[in-house]
Amino acid sequence: MQMSQNNHSTFETTEQEDLILDALDRWLERDVRPHVLELEHADTYPHAMVEQMKGLGLFGATIPEAYGGLGLSATSYARIVERISTVWMSLSGIINSHLIMAACVSRMGSEAQKADYLPRFATGELRGGLALTEPDAGTDLQAIRTLAVRRGDHYVINGTKTWISNGIEGSCFALLVKTDPEADPRHRGMSMFIAEKGDGFTVSRKLEKLGYKGIDTAELVFTDYIVPADRLIGLKEGRGMQTALGGLELGRVNIAARGCGVAAAALNDSVAYAQTRNTFGKPIAQHQAIQLKLGEMATKVQAARLLTYDAARAYDSGQRCDMEAGMAKYYASEAAIDNTLEAIRIHGGYGYSKEFHVERYFRDAPLLCIGEGTNEIQRMIIAKQLIERNPV
Ligand SMILES: Cc1cc2nc3c(=O)[nH]c(=O)nc-3n(C[C@H](O)[C@H](O)[C@H](O)COP(=O)(O)OP(=O)(O)OC[C@H]3O[C@@H](n4cnc5c(N)ncnc54)[C@H](O)[C@@H]3O)c2cc1C
Repeated sequence: MQMSQNNHSTFETTEQEDLILDALDRWLERDVRPHVLELEHADTYPHAMVEQMKGLGLFGATIPEAYGGLGLSATSYARIVERISTVWMSLSGIINSHLIMAACVSRMGSEAQKADYLPRFATGELRGGLALTEPDAGTDLQAIRTLAVRRGDHYVINGTKTWISNGIEGSCFALLVKTDPEADPRHRGMSMFIAEKGDGFTVSRKLEKLGYKGIDTAELVFTDYIVPADRLIGLKEGRGMQTALGGLELGRVNIAARGCGVAAAALNDSVAYAQTRNTFGKPIAQHQAIQLKLGEMATKVQAARLLTYDAARAYDSGQRCDMEAGMAKYYASEAAIDNTLEAIRIHGGYGYSKEFHVERYFRDAPLLCIGEGTNEIQRMIIAKQLIERNPV
């Protein structure tokens, strides 16, 4: 064990982690950072980087070694996501919902499903995603309408999913459906399938976004899409909501880590810029008004990290961690939003320029308060857990 000396984290890292993080840092500086502005502003998919990510093993980061992955803990994974997000948050989206899908299969799938899918996820041969949200149901997932009807040894699925990350480039999705639309409570009628692209599964459109450019977000339509019954995750109906919520715990740690990365990038750029921009005969870093901003931004980054790595540790220990993951996701995403606006203020007119990175951080940050459960919902989860853990 040793203490990390870089400014990403003040937490202990293992030797294996150091090797992975060093390789990742070298790749980010050499092959990613120089190309971000061009790819971002042209909204171009980073195919070459995806191939390099396969080489780094990132598609198998949290997949158990027995299935060909790196078998990293959520803590190590959070460090990877944080680092990627300090350079280009979009890239982390390529592996995030892929690994949530892998976690759904790993935690809830049958042995045959794990053996069949996890090794192909680990190499990136199969590219996963998470298809939960529908045009009329996001936060209220139990209101989804996509329907799977059993016909002998297969199911026939009809419905529409929207806002699906990796929807165009991905090949295989954790698809949340209703298998019993009359069930009471509603979640008992929900199931999750491993849905590979094929007949009846179409990408109806690419969605245009404020930020999170370069990577694909799409609407998916299922029309009499046939999926074999052995692709029902866990081979049992009625466990879809549980599977999705379990996957989203890892998802919230990953969003929190993205928040740390974006908040830190805004801080780092601001610390550097404030020392080189002069007004009234001195660097703006020497004006107290700017120092107050930097002090607040740095404190938010550190607080976000403490919450994020605490949540990751709770996840790794196997304990229930919706409160910890909710706090981390909520705080780190708000820190990213606050810091990116402050970074624009510190950069003055240049903060508004597409030649600098800070306007991109500012466009990316708001997604973090929406994805994997909105921040309104996170605060309600935290409160419910507080009450449950402290009965009177
Ligand atoms: C870029 C991007 C990528 C995405 N990727 C994916 C993906 O890969 N897979 C996927 O399945 N989804 C994805 N999503 C969808 C995302 O998860 C949903 O947008 C999110 O869950 C919110 O759902 P909604 O948009 O339907 O908002 P709504 O649920 O309609 O919420 C609207 C507002 O009402 C609030 N609200 C709702 N219910 C309550 C309540 N009970 N109490 C208080 N406030 C409430 C919400 O917090 C929000 O402020 C993505 C979204 C974006 C923008």
